[in-house]
Amino acid sequence: MPKAVFVYNDALSQHVLREGHPMRPTRLRYTYELLSAYRAFELPGALLMEPRAATLKELSVIHDEEYICAVESISKGETTYSPARYNFVANGDNPPYEGMYEASVLSSGASIVAAEAVLTGKADTAFNVSGGLHHAARSWASGFCIFNDPAVIIGHMVRDGMKVLYVDIDAHHGDGVQNAFYTSNKVLTISFHESGRYLFPGTGDSTETGEGEGLGYAVNIPFLPYTGDEVYLEAFEEIVPPLITGFKPDVVVAQLGVDAHFMDPLAHLNLSSEAYTNMVTRLLELSPKLVALGGGGYSMDAVPRVWALEYGVLLGVEFPNDIPESYQKKYGIRKLRDEGPPEVSSEVSTQAGRFAMEGVDTVKRRVFQFHGL
Ligand SMILES: [Zn+2]
Repeated sequence: MPKAVFVYNDALSQHVLREGHPMRPTRLRYTYELLSAYRAFELPGALLMEPRAATLKELSVIHDEEYICAVESISKGETTYSPARYNFVANGDNPPYEGMYEASVLSSGASIVAAEAVLTGKADTAFNVSGGLHHAARSWASGFCIFNDPAVIIGHMVRDGMKVLYVDIDAHHGDGVQNAFYTSNKVLTISFHESGRYLFPGTGDSTETGEGEGLGYAVNIPFLPYTGDEVYLEAFEEIVPPLITGFKPDVVVAQLGVDAHFMDPLAHLNLSSEAYTNMVTRLLELSPKLVALGGGGYSMDAVPRVWALEYGVLLGVEFPNDIPESYQKKYGIRKLRDEGPPEVSSEVSTQAGRFAMEGVDTVKRRVFQFHGL
């Protein structure tokens, strides 16, 4: 049985960004409870690991020290730094809150624990559902993200001489990770997302392909709203397997945000749970080493189910579709898998397919040549 780490303790899910804020860390607790209800952590390959806080030195591979210190100070309620300078605004996407430093260094540290477990061979794969905070920039917060844990672990892998392929299936463009490595040929970033014409952060056009030495090492596949499983998976298959073969990474880091799910209240894509298990199965088959991270996902119904299913894929098990009674009773959710995404008109799906394939063609034309394809 493959060994798969799951990094979690309740300290990761206790904070509240702001009453009514869509990012609710309790979704991590729900995921843990759902997996516990399935007795997933008692399975032979399962390894439940505690997170630890990332250090200033670890974060500074990606972030400015001044920013890290500012987050720590603002988190204590001090007035030394101006929150707005770092994009912390009370009624905005990134409200400053007490304890945000501790919460953020812990979720980054959890990604470091996941990466270390895989790189040292302690486990075949690892999943940190509290990570994947892909929008954070070098010196400011963005899109509910304070520290960019995917970029932090990738930055350390690159320092250690590794080549890293980053795959991001969050509904939003993985701009922070792309920007961190935009001029590097050691990191190939691939982001699938709802087009920036319709959704934050507005970037991620298929013509963004890297710069300088990094030209050909950034890939973006935007989708129209209401794009469903079939079109999405076709684009994924056209892009990810050939690029893994061509680029030959030492490690694959996957950001597995669940906000492209049809139940998500913020984005407008139409994926079902089956699309997610399908993609994680493929990543597991294709990756020399796989570190999986969470990300967005704002449906308290869909997020725990999809992440539980994905951890099942990493463990090589299929959980029964009837959700165990303890979880059913507490949260009123009965089935683990979706019956499929909602139907859309054939006109909408034809347009979605055409738009996605335009992006795929652009990437093939502009990027594949850099990888011998
Ligand atoms: Zn997102």
